[in-house]
Formats: sequence, structure tokens, C-alpha cells
Amino acid sequence: AQVLLAVVAAAAVVAGVVLHAPAQRWPWVAVAAAVGAWTVADRVLPTAGGLIRLAGFVALAAGLLRLRRPPGEGHGEVTLLDTLTAVLLLVLTGALLRPADQAWWWSAPASAPVGDALLLAVAIRLMIVGRANPSAWSLVTGTAAALVADTAVALTATNLTDSLAGLPPLAASIAAVCLGWAALHPSMVSLGDPAPAREASPTLRGFWIATAAALVAPLVLLGQALAGEVRDGVVLAATGAALTLVALARVATAGHSHNRTLVYQSSLDTLTGLASRSHLMGRLTEPGQPPWSAVLLIDIDDFRRVNEDSGPSFGDVVLVTLAERLRRLAGPDDIVARFGGDEFAILVAGPRDLTALTMEVVAATTEPVPVGDRTVRVSACVGMAVPPDAPRADEPKDGGPDDRGPDDGGEEMVRRAGMALRAAKEAGPGEWCRYDSDRHALLIERLRLREALVRAIDEGAFRLAYQPIVELRTGQTVGFEALVRWEHPNRGLVSPGEFIAVAEESGLIEAIGGLVLRTAVAEAAGWPRSDVYISVNVSPRQLQRSGFAQRVGEVLAAAGLPADRLMLELTESALDRGADNAWGELAELRDRGVRLAIDDFGTGFSSLSYLEQTPIGAIKMDKSFVDSLVLSPRQRTVVEGIVSMAHKLGLQVVAEGVESLAARDLLVEMDCPYGQGYLFSTPLTSAEVIGWLSHPTPTVPPPAAPPPAAAPPPAAAPPGAPPPAVPPPTAPP
Ligand code: C2E
Ligand code: MG
Ligand code: MG
Repeated sequence: AQVLLAVVAAAAVVAGVVLHAPAQRWPWVAVAAAVGAWTVADRVLPTAGGLIRLAGFVALAAGLLRLRRPPGEGHGEVTLLDTLTAVLLLVLTGALLRPADQAWWWSAPASAPVGDALLLAVAIRLMIVGRANPSAWSLVTGTAAALVADTAVALTATNLTDSLAGLPPLAASIAAVCLGWAALHPSMVSLGDPAPAREASPTLRGFWIATAAALVAPLVLLGQALAGEVRDGVVLAATGAALTLVALARVATAGHSHNRTLVYQSSLDTLTGLASRSHLMGRLTEPGQPPWSAVLLIDIDDFRRVNEDSGPSFGDVVLVTLAERLRRLAGPDDIVARFGGDEFAILVAGPRDLTALTMEVVAATTEPVPVGDRTVRVSACVGMAVPPDAPRADEPKDGGPDDRGPDDGGEEMVRRAGMALRAAKEAGPGEWCRYDSDRHALLIERLRLREALVRAIDEGAFRLAYQPIVELRTGQTVGFEALVRWEHPNRGLVSPGEFIAVAEESGLIEAIGGLVLRTAVAEAAGWPRSDVYISVNVSPRQLQRSGFAQRVGEVLAAAGLPADRLMLELTESALDRGADNAWGELAELRDRGVRLAIDDFGTGFSSLSYLEQTPIGAIKMDKSFVDSLVLSPRQRTVVEGIVSMAHKLGLQVVAEGVESLAARDLLVEMDCPYGQGYLFSTPLTSAEVIGWLSHPTPTVPPPAAPPPAAAPPPAAAPPGAPPPAVPPPTAPP
């Protein structure tokens, strides 16, 4: 039965290796070989038993020592030397303990327990240094059982006691079962992975042990020589010499392996004791790993504030606390890593309820963190992604255009989790997000645009175009609206419709808006006519920043432009957001003499009450009203209403997007004073504006009535003047 059990155990080890495909296979093969060797030694070939048993020890010791190192970090020679030390010590013990009547020193029953004790020590170390997971526990129990079995055999053989005769088979069976189970349990793959609180330099200690071991044989020989009788002198001298050689080799590799120790330690984060980013990535991309089910990236919100407010050591405590919480949430085979700074990652091993896990992570990070006698509250955003080829429960397939094969699935999964994290960050603190290919394609587009905008601001890639605002009745130019253009290196001029929203959302609009204001005011100050104003679009965000009116005043003063030659265009939403600051700034601007207009009037929230209360002096009627004017009599009534209301409130009206003579004529009929549109001109460069202003003749025929005089033919444009724009034959720039 014991033989059968051993065969089953060896088969289980092989099955475990095939099933779980660990990164290190051969240590396990060594375990299987050892189990097999001992059984053969005990039951099948008792004559050569001692030698076979020794071979089993060598195999198991080498296997366990090898497992102790994280995979792929090349501790090959060190493992070999440590194994040699252990085996030579075993031989030495065997020689010393050989009963006088036994010729074969390696058969000494007392040497087996010594070997077992060595193995047990290695197994325990494996558990302390690596992870105390079920597989590690099984190995420890197995080697402990082997120690019990062999000790019982040794005691019986040396006639110290014979009451233990029943113990060896039982203990040996337990050992076989445990070793088999250690290989079958799924946690075997993470055996030897870095765990917290790892000692500083495991390789140097091995060196000292080897040196001490080398001294044993000479001392024994010395003792025997002094006592007058040398026994097994050849064996002792040979093992002593061999141990010395091993110790010397250990010295030679010490410096070399110290470097490796550094590599090995770089698989650990020193502050939190979690795995490092490189370790996690290594495990993720290692071939033959069981499929990971998800990766979670966790980033603390506004961690810089914690560090700034309370100091970096305070921040460290927060990181360590959160690391501990994450470790507790993670399963035994999950890998929790610090990705750097305030970012963590969990590589999820088995099937899990990922949504629940993610929410638990968010909850765990928002719990208050005690630091000394204070507590801080932080929050974190989480981005989660499953392997690219894994079908989702709620969706058949995650078939985005950027789907990759399973080969680089690990890195792709982390990349996607990163995108999900960014999406969560956009949503606000304490949010989490699962990767979604469609949503993220848009998000990525926006993020790229944002990065490009940052560069454009640095490089000064923005230009202004100026569109004339004319008096509809006479066609005289009364002002210009400054419209921003982005000179994109590859795409040419990009219109603001494509980037203002992103600039607004990211806050970059404050920089862009400031640039536009300074440029427009400075250029307008140099124009040949002092009776035209410059109209500049202002985003809600600019207005919310306190000191805006003050800054506008400074810009005007710097350029020497009178305040009443500047008009600021605000959207209805800028007033809707109702920041008290905005109203205060507007009042101050009005007091300084700056003109204020509502842009795109009629498209916003349209609570008309603000018109009466605010310092607004003009409305820019949205193009949509002007467009429908020609087609719909009902709309005509609406526009008439707007114009007459504006008159009664003492507001000026500018009709936007006037494209046809028909629309212009209707607007004149309704007494709408001003207009802007392709009918008069598309936006011009600053140089063109100067030409335009020095050419006083309107390029558009005046309205037919009133006065009912015959319209003169349009004047030919003098050289240098902007091209006549009636009606525009092509699309606007
Ligand atoms: P907006 O302030 O309502 O500007 C008028 C837009 O209508 C301009 O488009 C202008 O080129 C276009 N337009 C003028 N006449 C006609 C016409 O007859 N037909 C048609 N179809 N379109 C006409 P643009 O330059 O693309 O600007 C779009 C929007 O971008 C602006 O709308 C404004 O809201 C925003 N924007 C432009 N420059 C700035 C800026 O410097 N700062 C801020 N915050 N927003 C700006
Ligand atoms: Mg505007
Ligand atoms: Mg507008």
C-alpha cells in the first residue's frame, strides 16, 4: 500500500505540474523523483537503499532550494552550491554516525533524519520568504512527516527503542500525500513569489553557512587524530576538501549574486512590502501562467495634497495602510503590487465577482486612515480590465478595432485598465470604471487632443481670424469678432468647434482664452480705424476665475485700447452657472467700460430675467434664428419679438450667420441693427482686416428698402482689399 501511495503521490506531482504549468517545472520533477527514490530505497531495493535515499535527498534539496528563488532571476549557481553544501554535510554526518559494524557509511540510519531536518528548514524558509499558501504548508508538513518517519527508523535501527515500529510507514505515507498535494494545489504556482518582510540578503547568509560547513571535516579529523584513531579518514578528508571548494565558489559568486539580489529585491516595493510593478508585469507576461481574470489599477485621488498638507512621512503611512487593506481584499493567489507613487494594482487570479471586488477596493480606500492621533480621509479611483480575449458575461465579445491576440494580452490588459482608470478619474474622485472599447476610443481621442493642445499652447500655435460685424442698413463695419484657429502641424487650420469643448473641459481654455484676449486687443489697437470694436469670446471658466475683470483691464492698458472698443461675448450658460463671482466680474467689467454681449442668444437656458438684471449691453442672435427666418413666417415673429424686446431693454442686437441677401433684408425690415456672416465676409487675417478697413465701400449691395432707392452695383474691390464675399462660393476657412 505504501508503494502504491508513493506512486500515486509522484504521479500527483507530475499531474500538478502539467495542470498548473508553473514557471519552474523542474523543482517539482525533483520532488516527484525524491518521493519515488525513497520508496524504491525502502521497499524495492533495500540493498542499495542508502545510496538511492541519498539521491532522493539531493533531488529534493535542489528542488526546494531552487523554488525558494523567484523564477527567472538566475540564481542557478548559488542554488547548486547550497545544495552541494547540504549534501556534503549529509555525507559527513553519515560517515560520523556510521555504526562500526556497517561498511556503507551512507547507509547509516541516523543520516536520514539529518537530511530531513535540512529539507524541513528549506521548506520553512520557503514559506517565510515566499508566501504561506496552502502549497507551502503542504511542503512543510510533508518534510516534517518525513523527518518523523526517518527519526523513528533511526531510533529503531540503533535499538534505542522498538515501540515506534508502526510509525515510519504511517509518517512516510503522510509525507507522500503532502508532497503530492503541494503540487496539485493551484497555489503551487505562486510558491517562492516575493512576500512582504523579506530579508535583506539571502545569498550572503548561504555563504557563511558554506564556510562554517567547510570547517567541520578538518575539525573532526583533528579531534580523531588527537584521540589516536582516525576512522573514514578518506571520506572525511574528501568531503572537507569538497566543502572548502564549495565555500570558495560561494565567495566567488557572492558579489555577483549580490547584484542579483538587488534585481530580486526590485521585485518588492520597499515601503509597502507589496510586489513591484516589474514583478507584476513579469508574472503577467510569463508564459505558461494560468489565465489571469482581471487587473485593477488603483490610484489615490489628489495624493499630492496629502503629502503637501501633512508631509511625506504622513503620506507614507497612508500608502502602507492602503497597501495592507488591498492585500487583505486580494485572494491568496492574486498579486498586489505598488505601481509607483500613489498607484496600486491587483492582478486577480481566479474567477471572482469583479464588480464586487472593485467596489470593495473603492470602499476600502475611502475608510479613514489613522495616522498617529489624527485621521485622514482619502479616496481612490479604480480602473478595471479583463484579458482582451476573455468574453464578458454581459457582452458576447469585446470586439474593438484594437483587439489584440492573446500573446500580448497581459500588457494589453494593463493598458486597458489604465484607460479605464483615466475614465474613472474624469468621472471624479472615488469612481471606478471598467474598460469599454467604444467609450475608451472616444476618451483616448480626447486625451490625445488635450495633449496636443498643451503642446500647441507651448508652441504658440494659435492664430486669430477676425470676422467683420456690420451695420445691416449701411454695410459699414462696426467691429470684428476674434475667432481662434489652431495651426495644426499635420491638419492645417483646425476650427474651434473641434477643440474648444476639450479645452473647456480640461481647463486649458484659460490659457488659450488669455492668449486670444491679449492678441486680439493688441492687434485691434494697431488697426487704422478707432471706431471699430473687437469682440472676444470668453468661456465660462475664464469668467469664474476671480480677478478676470482686473486682468482684462491690464490687457487693455498694456495695448492702449480704450475699454469701450472691447466687447466680450459670453454664453448664456456662463451666466447660468450662476457663480456669484461671474456676476461680480461682469459688473466690474461694465464699470470699466467694457461692452458685454450674450453669444448664441436663444440657444441657452433662456430665462430672460437675467437680461434685465445684468450689465449685458448686447445680444448676438444665434444663426439658427437667422437661417429659419427666410423659410418660416412663424419664426419671423419670434425674431421680431427678440429684436423689439432688445430695443425696449436698450440692448444692441447682432444677427449671427447672415448668409443671404434675403435674410439681411428681412432683418433690416425688422429693425435689427447689426449682423455678421459670410454674406459680408468670412473671417479675415489681421493683415486682411487692415486692407478691409482702409477700403470704405461696402461689398454688399445695400438693402432694397427703405430707402427705396435703386441699389448701386457693388463697387469693385481695390487691390489689397479682401475679396468680395457675396455670396460665398465656397465653405468658410
Ligand atoms: P461663435 O462665437 O458663435 O462664432 C461664430 C461662428 O460662426 C464662427 O465659427 C464663425 O466662423 C461662424 N460663422 C460666421 N458667419 C457664418 C455664416 O454666415 N455661416 C456659417 N455657417 N457660419 C458662420 P468658428 O470660428 O468655427 O467658431 C465656432 C465657435 O467657437 C464660436 O462660435 C465660439 O463659440 C467658439 N470660439 C471661437 N473662438 C473662440 C475663442 O477665442 N474663445 C472661446 N472661448 N470660444 C471661441
Ligand atoms: Mg462668438
Ligand atoms: Mg455665436
